[in-house]
Amino acid sequence: MKDMSQILDGKRVRDEILDELKPRIAKLTRKPGLAVVLVSNDAASEVYVGAKIKTCIELGMVSEKIAPPDTISTEELLRIVADLNVRPDIDGILVQMPLPRQIDPQRVLDAITPEKDIDGFHPINVGNLSIGLPGPRPCTPSGVMELLKRYGIPVAGKHAVIVGRSGIVGKPMAMLLLHADATVTICHSRTADLAAECRRADILVGAVGRPALLTREHIKPGAVVIDVGINRLDRREEVVKIFGESSEKTAAFDKRGSVLVGDIHPYDAAELSSAWTPVPGGIGPLTIAMLMVNTVEAAERRQA
Ligand code: NAP
Repeated sequence: MKDMSQILDGKRVRDEILDELKPRIAKLTRKPGLAVVLVSNDAASEVYVGAKIKTCIELGMVSEKIAPPDTISTEELLRIVADLNVRPDIDGILVQMPLPRQIDPQRVLDAITPEKDIDGFHPINVGNLSIGLPGPRPCTPSGVMELLKRYGIPVAGKHAVIVGRSGIVGKPMAMLLLHADATVTICHSRTADLAAECRRADILVGAVGRPALLTREHIKPGAVVIDVGINRLDRREEVVKIFGESSEKTAAFDKRGSVLVGDIHPYDAAELSSAWTPVPGGIGPLTIAMLMVNTVEAAERRQA
């Protein structure tokens, strides 16, 4: 029967997570401080950074935006990071990606002191995740784990299939699910039979960056479907091709001139899955919530 599937509401879980942080922040002797370095003047990055700073302010945390010109060199950016590393009022440092072409992103990420690396991208923290030691975990995959936990979705013994192997989503997602005792398969652009692999999933995670790449042929009936993808479509024909002429998405496009689409076809997910995350409103809101969790945890550790 259609639409018996449960929608996993990321906004509700985000609000829960943020509410739980408030008493922890109140207990600290100094407000947690987050520094966000925004180098590019890419519109999407500005929106993300704005949302992160707004959430900080709502929680009564201190945030500082540092926006050097996009002609900055790697050396100059490293000096900004070095200053933030030693500032006592800053608990978390985030360098918003992507960086302009002249900058070596790995050198910048490596320069952030692991204690203040609230994105969890520093090699030391990647190692900590791999061995299962404490440390900040990358925000988007840890948001997925929170969502599964708070909806009571069992992970142990389940077969999780992740499509995407990036360092910020796919790989850490696999590691977190593995630590939660799932049997994990990671797929990527060279996977031989993607649909067959995906159909083995009790928990299917799309982290590809291709609009509605995964469709009904990839979803086992009853699977839990987690869509990490955020793709903006700004051409009507693309929207019609995926959703059809008389669909809600096409109507939304006609109103706004663009729509957000995940990596998994939402109509197929709604029809076949036991539970699924919408785009927008699924995993997206959890990323910022987990960034706040990581910043508060960094402040707690530094003040302990
Ligand atoms: P990425 O670095 O571009 O990685 C994409 C992965 O998908 C790669 O591993 C790639 O395989 C794989 N892939 C590409 N085409 C494929 C295909 N046809 N079949 C199978 N695998 C394929 O992307 P990302 O940074 O992980 O982001 C993934 C998506 O999540 C994007 O839509 C992004 O906007 C979204 N995202 C959302 C949040 C959030 O807050 N919700 C946060 C971060 C990212 P190869 O490794 O073989 O190239």
